[in-house]
Amino acid sequence: MTCMNHHYTDVKESYLFADIRKRIDTWLKKNPGGKVLRLGIGDVTQPLMPSVIQALHEAVEDQTHAETFHGYMPECGDPGLRQAIAKWYQQRDIPVEWEEVFISSGASDELGDILHLFDRSLAAMIPEPAYPAYADANIMDGRKIIYPEIDADHGFMPVPPAEDIQALIYLCSPDNPTGAACTRQCLEQWIEYAGRTGSVILFDAAYESFVQEKNIPRSIYEIEGAKGCAIEISSLSKTAGFTGTRCGYTVIPLSLEREGLSLNKMWVRNRTTKTNGISYILQKGALAVFSEQGQREAAELREVYRRNARNFMQALDEAGLSYTGGKNSPYIWMKCPDDHGSWETFDILLEKGQIVATPGAGFGESGEGWIRFSMFADEEDIREAGRRIIFLRNEKYF
Ligand code: PLP
Repeated sequence: MTCMNHHYTDVKESYLFADIRKRIDTWLKKNPGGKVLRLGIGDVTQPLMPSVIQALHEAVEDQTHAETFHGYMPECGDPGLRQAIAKWYQQRDIPVEWEEVFISSGASDELGDILHLFDRSLAAMIPEPAYPAYADANIMDGRKIIYPEIDADHGFMPVPPAEDIQALIYLCSPDNPTGAACTRQCLEQWIEYAGRTGSVILFDAAYESFVQEKNIPRSIYEIEGAKGCAIEISSLSKTAGFTGTRCGYTVIPLSLEREGLSLNKMWVRNRTTKTNGISYILQKGALAVFSEQGQREAAELREVYRRNARNFMQALDEAGLSYTGGKNSPYIWMKCPDDHGSWETFDILLEKGQIVATPGAGFGESGEGWIRFSMFADEEDIREAGRRIIFLRNEKYF
């Protein structure tokens, strides 16, 4: 007899960001008054855009008058916001209906909560290196995890395994941490695999708005057959600087069924039981993102991070360093030079250049030998980090 979920003891302590912090603190103690350039954490630095700020203020004002006051919101999201998101998909010829859109408080919450729809005997398939929360949420749930091979020589494209296995498949595009963006052909392969094996794909589109290349899908529903096998989980965190404001959306097609059960209907049942909806104020702010002005401002906001990526890639090119990402992603995933390990490279960057990055080993074993730079940093810090990396290379520190 046991009363606790002992699978929690199977989850490794997350030392990654604590270790990074410890090493920075040690350096700062040795170098009082010193400054480090923070390109480690994937958190935005630009403030919310004017249209969102205005909408948030107006919503607060609404809450001060009985006539415009809102209490509980619909559990699956405000229909106006659900419709705006569906329309935003439709404008790009992506067939999404408003009843298929669920408003959430962010992608992380949904990536964990959605597991409730699936039997615990269904394995999770996670191409690594990956966002660590995928594996941890499944380990907590007691689920078996399969790690299919990922081809580092071909830009970290995830490839379906040779063996047919029914699973809950995680795909993230553009990817955190590698910055790789799935091509149409890559997604077609996975959709075909999911259809054949009865699998369900969880497509994490948190970075979709960073896709630049026309032939790279921003939504899995751009590919035929996806509505029969895929859930898309997305977020305004990186698209519109909502990491601290919190709002996301999940698309579950009405046609997605397994074993005679509608996943959309199950999720409606789940939400109406387990949440009381997202706050009126936040949903008003989120709605502004989907207005014409909001879309323009969000693009301008992301342009700061895109410019960072262009400047940083230029510096890495000049230094003769290899990397993926940056083009369709706010992350740059650099191969550690001279066969250094990822923590070794972290230490060289910190000690010799005062640059903070995230060691690839923190994203799974296959991340060893790589290091991630986040382009969400301050513009001048990015330029300075680029100059220092060129200097470190010229001085043969690595
Ligand atoms: N998915 C990926 C791949 C992420 O990198 C992140 C956050 O960094 C999230 C999801 C979580 O996003 P949210 O802020 O919406 O919870």
